[in-house]
Amino acid sequence: MKTRHIFGPVPSRRLGRSLGVDLVPYKTCTHDCIYCQLGRTTNLTVECKEWFPLDDIIGELKDKLATRPDWITMSGSGEPTLYSRLGELIARIRSITDVPVAVLTNGSLLWQDDVQSELMDAHLVIPSLDAGDQAMFSAVNRPHPSISFDLMVDGLEAFRKRYRGHFWLEVFILGGHTALRAEAAKIAACAARIRPARIQLNTVTRPPAEDYAAPVNRGRLEEFAGLFTPRAEVIADFREVHAAPEFSATRETVLDLLRRRPCTLEDIAGGLGIHRNEAVKYVEDLLGRGLIVRVDLKGKTCFRAGSKG
Ligand code: SF4
Repeated sequence: MKTRHIFGPVPSRRLGRSLGVDLVPYKTCTHDCIYCQLGRTTNLTVECKEWFPLDDIIGELKDKLATRPDWITMSGSGEPTLYSRLGELIARIRSITDVPVAVLTNGSLLWQDDVQSELMDAHLVIPSLDAGDQAMFSAVNRPHPSISFDLMVDGLEAFRKRYRGHFWLEVFILGGHTALRAEAAKIAACAARIRPARIQLNTVTRPPAEDYAAPVNRGRLEEFAGLFTPRAEVIADFREVHAAPEFSATRETVLDLLRRRPCTLEDIAGGLGIHRNEAVKYVEDLLGRGLIVRVDLKGKTCFRAGSKG
């Protein structure tokens, strides 16, 4: 089967209609976050290489530019800074389109000068910071053994000083972990050192890798938002964008499939010929509307239509 590197455009909370670029094989990452919507990391690595030929990615992207996305976003099945030719890829994209380029990264490799250099031409970089000390970092992000909390935060600070594009920070707050004022305050202190232009608080809205990765309600996130400088934004519910006709049509197709039989995310993606990250968005929306439910079948997480669906 041909590997698909480009997905969408899919509605993104922050970036409108975002065309996703997937640069590494599924769950190839420097972290194994307990909240990861893609499941557990199967290739925990810090090896940077050209995981897929750059020309293949560009070729696929050219075909998709007619969809007129708002952003081209490096994200996907793992950590995009593990792609060794990321800087060249961004430069090639900028030579063929005016659509701005964003990179969503876990920030774990930004202490490396060469990784920083690869990101210099991106219009927007959004790293994550989900913990305020080593113990919480280990518990929530379960990083590769070579990555320490201090190294990562120093890297974020160094990159911020050097990078001239837009720099925001995403903070994922988890019930039972960082949803305590003292823990959120520690993250806020680190964020103050890094000095992002915007800080965005997020929480679990999609099925996480571990059941114990618990969501936090909006009111609690709003309380924590005031601890940050600048005040953090709580990433809003995205229902309105999900009401767009192109999104709701495919969502209905996913629901039809789940009315017929329970499916895993891979079944949905494979059955409809869409990227797994796209399937995640439809599942999130259908779960939020109470139209489908999550079930465990033979140890696999599946989804099926619920009584309202
Ligand atoms: S949430 Fe992002 S950084 Fe964490 S394991 Fe998943 S892909 Fe990696």
